[in-house]
Amino acid sequence: MEFSEKILNTPSSFIRNILKVTESEDVISFAGGLPNPISFPVEALKASANKAISENGSRLFQYSGTQGYAPLREYIAAKYRRVHGLDVHADDVLITTGSQQALELIGKVLINKGDGIVIEEPGYLGAIQAFTLSEPTFYGVTLENDGLNLEELENALQQPNVKFVYTVPNFQNPTGLTYSKEKRQQIFEILSKYDVALIEDDPYGELRFQGEPLPYIGAGKLENSILLGSFSKTVTPGMRLGFIITKNKELMQHIETAKQATDLHTNIFSQYVIYDYLANNDYTEHVQKIIALYKNQADAMLNAMEEFFPAHVDYTRPDGGMFIWATMNNGTSSLDVFHKAMEQKVAFVPGDPFYTSKTGVNTMRLNYTNATPEVIREGIKRLGSIL
Ligand code: PMP
Repeated sequence: MEFSEKILNTPSSFIRNILKVTESEDVISFAGGLPNPISFPVEALKASANKAISENGSRLFQYSGTQGYAPLREYIAAKYRRVHGLDVHADDVLITTGSQQALELIGKVLINKGDGIVIEEPGYLGAIQAFTLSEPTFYGVTLENDGLNLEELENALQQPNVKFVYTVPNFQNPTGLTYSKEKRQQIFEILSKYDVALIEDDPYGELRFQGEPLPYIGAGKLENSILLGSFSKTVTPGMRLGFIITKNKELMQHIETAKQATDLHTNIFSQYVIYDYLANNDYTEHVQKIIALYKNQADAMLNAMEEFFPAHVDYTRPDGGMFIWATMNNGTSSLDVFHKAMEQKVAFVPGDPFYTSKTGVNTMRLNYTNATPEVIREGIKRLGSIL
């Protein structure tokens, strides 16, 4: 059988392959990117599932509209009006099968083969994968501690046929970094000069454990702003519920057509259940519990790094989210360290799959949300001795 170039050129999930090696019980794994399952509101979701079925009956089991369940879209719009001061309404929201699907749909709608996508370097592996299916040219822009490198951004935007810039402005995957207020403003000013869209992918924004919430870069200001959100990190990833917010009606219409072609609509059962959950539970209090849990785990990892990592290893200090990014300034390949670490039964994700243009890198992603503080300390101690 001959396969398409698009699929042959798409990186298969490096992380999934790594997770296979790291799955055994005796491995301390910082490799995953999973929310901690103790954060899932299982009982409340069970009550919501029962209630949604008894109140709506067969509607939960029927086909439904492509844009998504209207009360859920209204709930999301109202929240973004209230929390972020954005002028959004239910019609500006489309429910996707996780925000991952939003990435693929946007690629389909905006990219012709060879068109440019400006992406953070390092950037979210799943976005690289989803966009690759549209056969773009990637222009990587270095992600600095406070956001994109502005000179590289300007250069990238001058390349032919650049369609959009992809960013994760809060507690980025893989680095845990957050764009500063100043950088957000500077990026907004630069983007205002170009006919490109801006994707702000924000699945982690609510999981802030320190510092002040910051305004979005372009949402509510740029004409071609696309904001992505998700319930995966705050309620449950398994129900696969994410959303796209854009005020650009033409773009929304094309995304709807692409979604229709892909899966007709997002699981309507999940949409009814999550809507009931959101309408009848204290979501803010629930998210506060996740924040307290993750802050404790992040502190445990940072304290252990302080104690056990050698001076040539730098690492980020996230204000929220799920990841820390470490850089070995002596240039050691993180894949080499990965193999040595596996011998010591500790795992992380080597930096390579997060770049569109480099391999053999000296960086690594460490997830802290899935181990107890004691286990985190032991894992970092082992990693420190290898480094
Ligand atoms: N964007 C980013 C930056 C992510 O880290 C993830 C999850 N790893 C996603 C999108 C996809 O999330 P989901 O499809 O579960 O909403």
